[in-house]
Amino acid sequence: MSAPAPAAADRGGDWDIVVGLEVHAQIAVESKLFSGAACAFGAEPNSLVSPVDAAMPGMLPVLNAGAVDQAVRTGLALGAEIHRVSAFDRKNYFYPDLPQGYQISQYARPIVGRGALTVALPGGGEREVRITRIHLEQDAGKSIHDRDPARTWVDLNRAGAPLMEIVTEPDLRSGAEAAAFVAELRAILRAVGSCDGNMEQGSLRADANVSVRRPGAPLGTRCEIKNLNSMRFLARAIGFEAERQIGILEDGGAIAQETRLFDPETGATRAMRSKEDAHDYRYFPDPDLPPLVLSEERIARLAESLPELPAARAARFRAAWGLDAETARRLAGDPDRAAYFETLARSRDARQAAHWTTGELAGALDRVGRGIADSPVSAEALGALLDMVADGALSRRMAKQEFEEMFATGRAAAAIVEAKGLRRIADAGAIEAEVDRVLAAHPAQAAACRAGKAKLLGFFVGQVMKATAGKADPKAVNETLRRKLGYIGGCRC
Ligand code: ADP
Ligand code: MG
Repeated sequence: MSAPAPAAADRGGDWDIVVGLEVHAQIAVESKLFSGAACAFGAEPNSLVSPVDAAMPGMLPVLNAGAVDQAVRTGLALGAEIHRVSAFDRKNYFYPDLPQGYQISQYARPIVGRGALTVALPGGGEREVRITRIHLEQDAGKSIHDRDPARTWVDLNRAGAPLMEIVTEPDLRSGAEAAAFVAELRAILRAVGSCDGNMEQGSLRADANVSVRRPGAPLGTRCEIKNLNSMRFLARAIGFEAERQIGILEDGGAIAQETRLFDPETGATRAMRSKEDAHDYRYFPDPDLPPLVLSEERIARLAESLPELPAARAARFRAAWGLDAETARRLAGDPDRAAYFETLARSRDARQAAHWTTGELAGALDRVGRGIADSPVSAEALGALLDMVADGALSRRMAKQEFEEMFATGRAAAAIVEAKGLRRIADAGAIEAEVDRVLAAHPAQAAACRAGKAKLLGFFVGQVMKATAGKADPKAVNETLRRKLGYIGGCRC
């Protein structure tokens, strides 16, 4: 028997990249999905494990009502259908860190159905990404391979932690789009308060399903890349995977549906296992848990509890403060950043406030890896600095230096300015005295200027600034000189 002839090579030309995401978000509640044990990151291994989480025989799960509420609030924020009745299923598989031998999840009847999220695309424009569903499920524990060369340790602290899995339709078209989607989703989760969005600690992680196809062709075979825990890794993994698939197809090969892992060291994805089909998990309704029924009253109460969401807040920032779309979105996307900006902008120039919040402050916080909520410079303190610029006491350039020092020392602007004698000379009397001194020192130039040689005004401004070590307010110096030399409003009168 001869091997089947390879398909004709199909090189060059356009390919479409198709991406659908499964985002796991740990629900921000005190305890696990089915037990009273606490959920916390970084605790002593196996210190947050109840008999339910360890799957001791005879233990029964009790559903965490707070986690249910947060999933409903998230669904409402995504404009999704809330299912009045949903159900829990057992998804069977063996992992050393899954003592039950199955994960309690929702399969046929998830708590949240179809919704949508509009995302601003990196290249401009926006796209509506359809949400397929959100279901509740418990997390597994953690296997630790790097403590002992011969053994694997198991930490069950995470076993049973409450997760929402948010699934999208295959509506995304690149790694950058997928990252933009997750950024927008994270902003919503944080605004709602249903997930802290901390990707480094694994509170938010995405599986990316990637396929490629010729424009207009039906969907291709996909590979799923597991557990991407940063926006950058997500974008890079999708980019690498699409190129890999295009290479195989252009060589006349076929894509095997499989689960792959991304290696941040090499930027490559590699096969982990061939993809299970749903029937491999032998899903069946969990006999320990009754159907989850939501009353209309409960849904209405949760809807009322929703805060202003990022898109609405960005629109309000644009209308109220006259900000451009990109700046408004950056400020509105994070509740702490939005609150900081609003405090700073109140009774000040809003564009300056936006400029400092997204510029100097964001840069300084990035450098030290701190969030805006624990910024060493509060909105009030930065406001005091901006006020000194606005009333002419400090130049913009000096204000930037000041800010660095405030950020490093936590001292107030006024204290630093006084201590260093940086305060600008805005006092009219002091400036006038300085101007008189300079004019007296250059009588010939003064006479020429009075006679109409307007260029010399610049020379005198320079002399006064030099004499005051740059601390005089140049606008006040200019006006004083014009008045003294008989120039008003730029013409010789
Ligand atoms: P599972 O991964 O559990 O088998 P699904 O078949 O429902 O679940 O698909 C999960 C994800 O894969 C969804 O986000 C969906 O949008 C995405 N997806 C499905 N088909 C494709 C495809 N051909 N290319 C890219 N993504 C796809
Ligand atoms: Mg999947």
